Amino acid sequence: MADSFKEALLKAGKVSQSDIDRREQAEKDKAQKILDDKKAADKIEYDRIDKERKDFEDSQKPFYDMWKGEKSKKFLTHLIFSFTPFSMGQYAWTNEELKSKNCCICKHKLMSKETLWSKRDKLVEAGIDHIKRLLHDNSSEKYVKALNKIIDGGTMGIVSPYSDTAFCTTCFSSFGDWVSNELVKGNREINGIIRKRMREIAAENEAKKEPINATVPNNRQDLGNPVSGEVPGSETEGEGRGASKLQEGEKEQTGEIPQV
Ligand SMILES: [Zn+2]
Repeated sequence: MADSFKEALLKAGKVSQSDIDRREQAEKDKAQKILDDKKAADKIEYDRIDKERKDFEDSQKPFYDMWKGEKSKKFLTHLIFSFTPFSMGQYAWTNEELKSKNCCICKHKLMSKETLWSKRDKLVEAGIDHIKRLLHDNSSEKYVKALNKIIDGGTMGIVSPYSDTAFCTTCFSSFGDWVSNELVKGNREINGIIRKRMREIAAENEAKKEPINATVPNNRQDLGNPVSGEVPGSETEGEGRGASKLQEGEKEQTGEIPQV
């Protein structure tokens, strides 16, 4: 309150000094509360950023440690080789694909999609129970417990056809972060492993390509017998497929159901 205005009100007997003091104190308290709230919100945000940074550092530590040891570095090199490019890492569909039943980094129990699929009825039941419970209980604690019991504490395993090892999702993501960070920092060894691997993959893909000649027929006769599917003078996959298409067409015309 401006001093001149305050004095005028006092002189006029409109307010008492105690009223003015009380109002000024309330304004000070309000300003202090806004300041305190902001400080508290800032602290929550700083703590969150700190925790995220610490969690990230913790997730990277196993890889930095492994890179320091001679034997573990070899293993890490194998992982970089086997999971390059990162799209090479896929969820294991079958138990056979999931050769290692624990994560190679955190040792967490792993499972395949096959295992998850076999438990689908129980998972659906648990989901329905959870929805029913939500009507009077917002917490998902019981649901998480039920899920963990069904999947026996397992998590989905990520595998590569070039390795017998497997990752849990979290460690695979951390592994990707670590490799990316090392590349950004200029780790020449990791860069070399990845470049070498990419060259090998390119060569493998090149070798798999079909020869260009002899795959394009000049005329209908070159397709061979449309009924038998036999292609004269060629055993290339492309022509075999062409002939088999004609064979299917022939069967459709005769009303015969083509076999799949
Ligand atoms: Zn893990």
